[in-house]
Amino acid sequence: MIIAIDGPSGAGKSTVAKAVAKKLGFSCLDTGAMYRAVAWRALQDGVPFDDAALGQLARTHDIAFGHEPGDPAPKSVSIGGEDVTRAIRTAEIDRAVSPVSAAPSVREALVGQQRRIGRAGDYVVEGRDIGTVVFPEAEVKVFLTASDEERAHRRVRQNADRSIGSIDFDEVLADLRRRDEHDSSRATSPLKPADDAVRLDSTGRYIEDVIDEIVELARERAAR
Ligand code: C5P
Repeated sequence: MIIAIDGPSGAGKSTVAKAVAKKLGFSCLDTGAMYRAVAWRALQDGVPFDDAALGQLARTHDIAFGHEPGDPAPKSVSIGGEDVTRAIRTAEIDRAVSPVSAAPSVREALVGQQRRIGRAGDYVVEGRDIGTVVFPEAEVKVFLTASDEERAHRRVRQNADRSIGSIDFDEVLADLRRRDEHDSSRATSPLKPADDAVRLDSTGRYIEDVIDEIVELARERAAR
């Protein structure tokens, strides 16, 4: 089974995806980490941000997730054999990732990898275009949102916990809004809910309730 969780930055997708996967015994795929890894490599190598150059980079560098036994969520991510788990969470990558992910050749390369990974088992896959483009046949589709301010607060807390990225509320809020605008208005695979997605607004809700609601949706679907 595939459970697709799409939505804007900071809506709680990662937390929810990991917890849902744990409860159901599924694996997790964070597709945003893949776009971030390509952005990191492009910045490191001084690759121009044009479709051909970025597409070539995405096609020729393997992205791999490292797992610990029994944990559905990957502990690490690497590109071309280099561990970038922390390096892809900086404010610099937050700024670079939207233009990289808007490149159609990058999307083509990464969507191919995402389909190969997801079809190998039961997966909770989080991103922006999972229910619309990557797995339009996903058995469960959720579009998770929250107010801008709540998303920024959560991202600041997450960055503080990880000791990486900005912890300035206004800077984080501006970045989220800029990325949402970019991700929603791009020509290829824009951020938007699939017609058959269940829309969940996590503003002011306990995250455990949202997790339980998605687990219930998956169980209902499996029983059909
Ligand atoms: O989920 P996260 O915030 O880490 O995603 C980083 C960026 O990767 C997003 O802002 C978006 O530009 C891009 N992305 C995408 N399609 C996906 C997942 C992420 O375009 N499926």
